[in-house]
This record gives sequence, C-alpha cells and structure tokens, in this order.
Amino acid sequence: MTYVVTENCIRCKYMDCVEVCPVDCFYMGETMLVIAPDECIDCGVCEPECPAEAIKPDTEPGLEGWLALNAKYAALWPNVSEKSDPPPDAADWDGAPGKLQAAFGHADPAAA
Ligand code: SF4
Ligand code: SF4
Repeated sequence: MTYVVTENCIRCKYMDCVEVCPVDCFYMGETMLVIAPDECIDCGVCEPECPAEAIKPDTEPGLEGWLALNAKYAALWPNVSEKSDPPPDAADWDGAPGKLQAAFGHADPAAA
C-alpha cells in the first residue's frame, strides 16, 4: 500500500504535504507533485494536510491509474522536501474539472 497524489493537486501545489512526510518521498513537476510508491511508508500523515484533498490511499477503488502516474513521474521529477509558494491562481484551480487533460494531454492518468 502507498498513498498517491491525484488530480486536484494539479495547478494547486499548496505543498503542505512535503513538510510532514517523514521519508521525503514527494517529487515535484511543473504542475503537480507525486509520491514515490516504493518510498512511501504508508504513515498517512500527509493526507489530512492537503488543502485540496488530493492525497488518497491506493486502497481506495479506481486509483490504479494514479498509482501508475505517481510511480512514473517520481522516477523523473526532482525530490522536494521544503514548502514553496503555490501558484498565484491556485485557488481558482482547486476543484476545477479537466485538470489532468489540460496538464498532461490525457484524461486517463495511466496514459499521462
Ligand atoms: S498539499 Fe495537496 S495540493 Fe498541495 S502539493 Fe501536496 S498533494 Fe498537491
Ligand atoms: S503517507 Fe507518509 S510516507 Fe507516504 S507520502 Fe504521506 S507522509 Fe510520506
């Protein structure tokens, strides 16, 4: 089991999550963060810290594609453990539909 970052992180990047992770397993791309599934120790500390409610346990149904996206980009993006400022329009994107399609060009996270 691991926790995964899902669609509502895209263009929000509030980054409250990275400060609490005891094993620094967050990785940051241009539009979102991901968790390295093979580094996450399933402590669950980050989940309630995310203002966008974007962090979910992979035991929730239907998150296979997001697990694949997290694993793929954790291997490509740089590690991040310190919070930085979110984008100025983060609140406008919180909960907006179609963010995955807009950011990655795919509606299916497994294909992104
Ligand atoms: S706190 Fe939530 S929205 Fe912010 S970077 Fe972490 S996962 Fe993404
Ligand atoms: S569940 Fe724990 S180890 Fe996994 S990403 Fe969140 S804070 Fe880090």
